[in-house]
Amino acid sequence: MANLRTKALEQVEKRKVAEVNTPSEDISKFFGVDSFGLDQMRETLAPATYKEAEDAILNGKKISPELSSAIAAAVKTWAISKGAKHYTHWFQPLTGDTAEKHDTFFDAMKGIEIFKGSALIRQEPDASSFPNGGIRSTFEARGYTAWDPSSPMFVWGETLCIPTIFVSYTGESLDNKAPLLKSVDTIDRAATRVCKFFDRNVSKITPSLGCEQEYFVVDKAFYNARPDLVLAGRTVFGHNPAKGQQLDDHYFGSIPNRVLNYMKDFEAEALKKGIPVSTRHNEVAPSQFEVAPLFEEINKATDHNQLLIDIMNKVAERHDLKVLFHEKPFAGLNGSGKHNNWSLITNTGVNLFQPSSSAKENLQFLTFFVNTLMAVYEHGDLLRASIASAGNDHRLGANEAPPAIISAFIGSQLSAVLDELENNGNIKVEKGDNMYMKLGIDKIPEILLDNTDRNRTSPFAFTGNKFEFRAPGSDINCAAPMTVLNVIVADRLNTFADEVDALVEKGEDRRIAIVNILRDYIKASKAIRFEGDGYSKAWEEEAEGRGLPNVKNTPEALDAYLTEKSIQVFSHDNVLTEKELEARREILLENYIRKIQIESRVMGDLASNHVIPTAVKYQNILINNAKGLKELGVDNSAVLSTIEKISMHLAVLRNGIKDMTNERKRVNDIEDVRDQAIAYCHDIKDKYFDEIRRAVDKLELYVDDEDWPLVKYREMLFLR
Ligand code: ADP
Ligand code: MG
Repeated sequence: MANLRTKALEQVEKRKVAEVNTPSEDISKFFGVDSFGLDQMRETLAPATYKEAEDAILNGKKISPELSSAIAAAVKTWAISKGAKHYTHWFQPLTGDTAEKHDTFFDAMKGIEIFKGSALIRQEPDASSFPNGGIRSTFEARGYTAWDPSSPMFVWGETLCIPTIFVSYTGESLDNKAPLLKSVDTIDRAATRVCKFFDRNVSKITPSLGCEQEYFVVDKAFYNARPDLVLAGRTVFGHNPAKGQQLDDHYFGSIPNRVLNYMKDFEAEALKKGIPVSTRHNEVAPSQFEVAPLFEEINKATDHNQLLIDIMNKVAERHDLKVLFHEKPFAGLNGSGKHNNWSLITNTGVNLFQPSSSAKENLQFLTFFVNTLMAVYEHGDLLRASIASAGNDHRLGANEAPPAIISAFIGSQLSAVLDELENNGNIKVEKGDNMYMKLGIDKIPEILLDNTDRNRTSPFAFTGNKFEFRAPGSDINCAAPMTVLNVIVADRLNTFADEVDALVEKGEDRRIAIVNILRDYIKASKAIRFEGDGYSKAWEEEAEGRGLPNVKNTPEALDAYLTEKSIQVFSHDNVLTEKELEARREILLENYIRKIQIESRVMGDLASNHVIPTAVKYQNILINNAKGLKELGVDNSAVLSTIEKISMHLAVLRNGIKDMTNERKRVNDIEDVRDQAIAYCHDIKDKYFDEIRRAVDKLELYVDDEDWPLVKYREMLFLR
């Protein structure tokens, strides 16, 4: 029987490894050629104009109309020389994707190519086609995009792309970038204030981000033959293959040729756009891989991750592949994450999370380190909310991913340092004492990097000179969790600085004041520290005893955006107002509802139109067989028993689909969006999905392999 699956298998059989033409063996010859960064500006702008542009980009200085006109003229000439005909503001609406609105450079009236400074600075896409969470009133659909000079423009195909923020007519953020940029300013101010306790020369601090991106790759024909992958991004059915990831032989094994060429191809494309991709390897599950760039300034790194995803999607087509960014495309196998490595770097080039050989500098290190732990302790719920999505719910706590409990791993050496400081009591430091020795902070090893035991089960781990937030899912825009991390650490640093100042005013030595406050924080935040196995059941129990939240589903996790303390931390510099937070939560809830609704419908369609008819057909063959055997007087009990089992699974399936569909009708009528999301979670997903899936996966085992309509896991996953 020719079904989608057999056709796909035939196509895949004939696939050839696609050629790649990297521009040059030498990356330095093509790195950034499609990106209009500082180097390109220096080459194309007059020296005085370039200085002004550099100042605007590096220090956030205001851009005059003259400067924007000069940059627009330069970038137009540059882009046209690269083959661009259009330009677009490139932005990140709350759909989670990137969006573009293309305009031509060509002015038909004048018969020439024109690009004005005003068009560089601002564009006006129709905001009504993007989610706004009730911010946009119906009579005012306008939205604006505004150029973000700190992230380089780039040419993509025939289009010049200009990274921008996206705001409503009334000024509210409608995207992921605007709050991220504000949070970068907020943490800059707070961290610089604290840094000045140690070093007067520091005038600016920038968060850095390096994100490791995990993904799956499947053949395009297989993908197209799986309506669930196409519509929901994940397989809702599929029996685990006899060989899964039990052998762990995929991890760091050799990369299959078709995938290797795909990687080389998208990496070259990314490098041309100035994305510093640097590592590639197999991940734990079959057909799962990872790409990681070198870290960059957080805003640029976030844009680059979004762009990398676009590039990976597009380049996959040339290889007849499909790249999956869903957090859990295949049940029973590892999910995909996006590990956010985060640190704070001063304008003098110091990474504030880098322990040093000097005890004095280590007090600075400890200050930032302990304040971060304290922030994570206070706002673990908000960090959890920042990574909540229908896809990530499948991954968090699913055995091989960090749990939904936010805890921090710091390694045995730093644990010992903090313990010593905690137990040291309020020691007196006399003149001439080596204060650092007396406090026991003189012996933090400088190079922790290779010594930090890697605990891969922790959602938030200190890895020697940076924190690695491992809970974000592979499909997320980094801006959401990074905005939260920036604001909560900024909030804590501000409070810390106030407390230090107050003690100093009372006559306390500043270093002693700092140490005493840190000691309090170490004690207060202790519950967040966990060095054991984060995947274990025992940890769930222990965490509960420690009072740490363990919110397993998105609708409830999102509540944390609207607590009083969250509203307060976001209010610094108006990163997000209460109204914007409400809007964001509503958009995320609606998104959740839509995702579960689609999955539920896809299950219904696949079961009714593909699985049930195929199983019935096969059952009829067995029935004839049983009759024939009986006629001949041969024992047919084994066949009868199979027929019965198929009947049983079919009954479960038919009833499950019927009940789930009815339940969906009820839930669709719920007015309140939070109530509706919770109903979708508990009354649809939790109640029916597993039961229906189990019945289908069992039937997959019974029905003749020739006839099974859905591409099987073993076929999709062992691509070579
Ligand atoms: P892992 O062993 O977890 O794979 P890597 O050393 O490969 O870790 O680094 C992972 C990511 O962390 C890379 O993107 C790297 O550039 C980034 N990274 C390294 N140092 C920093 C830092 N100081 N701040 C932010 N990211 C960093
Ligand atoms: Mg890592």
